Amino acid sequence: MKYFDINLDLSEDDIALRDAARQFAEQEMRPTAKLLDQMTAEEGVAENSPLWPFLKKAYALGYHKILMPESFGGFGLTPLQVNIVTEELGWGSFGLSVLLAVVSFPFYLACTSNNDELIEKFVKPFCNCTDGSIRGCWAGTEPAHGSDILAIGEEFFSSPQMKGDMRARLDGEEWVLNGQKSAWVSGGTISTHALVYAQIDPSKGFAGSGAFIVPMDLPGVSKGKALEKMGQRDLNQGELYFDDVRLPKSYMLVSPDFHPPVLEATLAMANLCMASWSTGLSRAAFEEALNYTKERVQGGKPLIEHYTTKQRIFEMFARVETQRAIARAGVNLNFSISPPHPEYSFVAKTRSTEMAFQNTHDAIQLLGGNGLTKEYAVEKLFRDARTSLIEDGQNEVLARHGGDLVTKTYPRSQIDSGA
Ligand SMILES: Cc1cc2nc3c(=O)[nH]c(=O)nc-3n(C[C@H](O)[C@H](O)[C@H](O)COP(=O)(O)OP(=O)(O)OC[C@H]3O[C@@H](n4cnc5c(N)ncnc54)[C@H](O)[C@@H]3O)c2cc1C
Repeated sequence: MKYFDINLDLSEDDIALRDAARQFAEQEMRPTAKLLDQMTAEEGVAENSPLWPFLKKAYALGYHKILMPESFGGFGLTPLQVNIVTEELGWGSFGLSVLLAVVSFPFYLACTSNNDELIEKFVKPFCNCTDGSIRGCWAGTEPAHGSDILAIGEEFFSSPQMKGDMRARLDGEEWVLNGQKSAWVSGGTISTHALVYAQIDPSKGFAGSGAFIVPMDLPGVSKGKALEKMGQRDLNQGELYFDDVRLPKSYMLVSPDFHPPVLEATLAMANLCMASWSTGLSRAAFEEALNYTKERVQGGKPLIEHYTTKQRIFEMFARVETQRAIARAGVNLNFSISPPHPEYSFVAKTRSTEMAFQNTHDAIQLLGGNGLTKEYAVEKLFRDARTSLIEDGQNEVLARHGGDLVTKTYPRSQIDSGA
């Protein structure tokens, strides 16, 4: 369903991109996501899974390179267009949207390396890939360290007591990687390349980490089983293991000196995608509820004609509009300045995921018993929205980090922001 965009100055390009993404979301994402949601996690990545033809279509249309810079073969979208397109994809499927973003992460970071060898070897083939055969993932979380890995502002982040599950040491001209990443790595078990964070200088805790691009066919790399979970079941996840994996020295994308600010910038970007996808998910729940309440008759008239239903529908509409406003404002800001102001990304992510969760809850209430069944989309939307409160940083953890940033930086200078 189309929505009215309160930005009256959308260009013809903006509208064309939005309509193409909407068509892709409706015709490809929704049917694939529904099938994957009902399969086991292992069936979802088996040879005959609908995931593979889906990825082929997505790559052929370029949806794997939305975040990639144009100069390296990426889509070259404006910040506003990133928001518009990601919202539509989130409307189609939150889980598949996450997958289409994380596949680019190792390559996105490799763009910043200024290393021609890496650009030729990894970045260009990824951007030119049209069949879904080159797939990255973002391997941060470890079995013993979830929120710890992202707690950039906290004192313990730099403490030598923080012993990572993943280590890297230099041996001559090669890095040697040992350890494990948790089952939460999105796209992990189907990845061909990983962006791996590993501790290099344990005396600095997680601040002594670096980031590496790791081809997953190297000797010593292995993968766990696809993870079974409650929500975003259409998103593959699983553990990664590294046993004396040797990498050329140049495969380090971020050294410990730059790890905290680069991680913060990555988190700021990822959280804005979360906010935009959540807007799409929330709109999907709103539309499902609106359509249903026009049809369902109780008390002698359609539900929508009851005052309390109208009031609830308005609250749902208000949440979607609020979500879009904060997500779009955050994307417009943090995709335009460097370094970003992460607190605005955290505002957008935490608020938007919470509002999406509330909208899916309200949609189920409006559908009554039907809302609990697999026949209606809201049941899946509810599970997907619940999952997003934990994803890319627990909302409470982001709020703590955001609070720390606001305390230290408020009010930010307009000049520092490039205004
Ligand atoms: C769908 C999904 C996709 C994901 N994709 C990826 C991915 O692609 N790559 C990746 O690396 N990770 C990924 N993750 C992992 C995600 O980032 C972590 O789940 C998240 O950071 C939380 O870690 P945790 O689950 O270990 O919870 P924990 O960190 O164990 O947190 C559990 C509870 O403890 C609280 N808590 C944590 N630390 C503190 C503290 N210092 N003080 C007080 N309370 C605290 C938290 O708020 C929470 O309530 C994904 C997760 C999900 C759900």
